[in-house]
Amino acid sequence: MIELKTNAEIERMRRPARITGEILASLRAKVRPGVTTAELDREAERLIARLGARSAFKNYRVGDAVFPAVLCASVNDEIVHGIPSDRRELQEGDILGLDFGVEVDGFFADAAVTVTVGNDLDDESRRLLEVTERSMYEGIARACEGERLGDVGAAVQDAVEAAGFSVVRDFVGHGIGRALHEDPQVPNFGKRGRGRTLAVGMVLAIEPMVNAGTAAVRVDADGWTARTSDGRRSAHFEHTVAITKKGPEILTRI
Ligand code: MG
Repeated sequence: MIELKTNAEIERMRRPARITGEILASLRAKVRPGVTTAELDREAERLIARLGARSAFKNYRVGDAVFPAVLCASVNDEIVHGIPSDRRELQEGDILGLDFGVEVDGFFADAAVTVTVGNDLDDESRRLLEVTERSMYEGIARACEGERLGDVGAAVQDAVEAAGFSVVRDFVGHGIGRALHEDPQVPNFGKRGRGRTLAVGMVLAIEPMVNAGTAAVRVDADGWTARTSDGRRSAHFEHTVAITKKGPEILTRI
């Protein structure tokens, strides 16, 4: 069941959304060669406490797997759900996906960005980041009353495939509000005019995951880290978006 939010509920989602955006911006500013992904996670945890929020990710369960960190940090061929580690030292030319969310006063927000480590990025990776971010905004632009979920997915998919990259099918976006993951699922692929009709009051996490090569995914023995099956790179961008009378409003933009 899709829970429509009232204006008052969307107002309450602004605080976790702003905190999520601000912490992601702070983390992004700390990314450089030599930093470990665990250091970024600890910084995120400090900022969450300082801002009076709670982590949306730490201790998140899927079956028997419990996520141990507040931040998902996914490097190069890792698509999503990378576990921060003191052993994972970032290198010049890496790409790093930072996926982060908090809960404040019973409401959740979720956002992600993929950033360059250092300045020396190869051309394909630069294009992968640009195309993935652009595909997210193409999808967000369709998140309007009366459009269908398939219109959002098709807009993302078209932008990605026109650039010669592939959309991950194994993970999708989602509704968000009183839970981190709510109905509906928001695929980054689809057919125009198909799927649920979007309505004012829906709040969606729109989050393309885009692979340079094949869409195929494998998950590490840790039960979380999802990586490309061909070892090529992957990028991920995400915003929490409210569908309002005036169109899509990106709550996690700062
Ligand atoms: Mg999400």
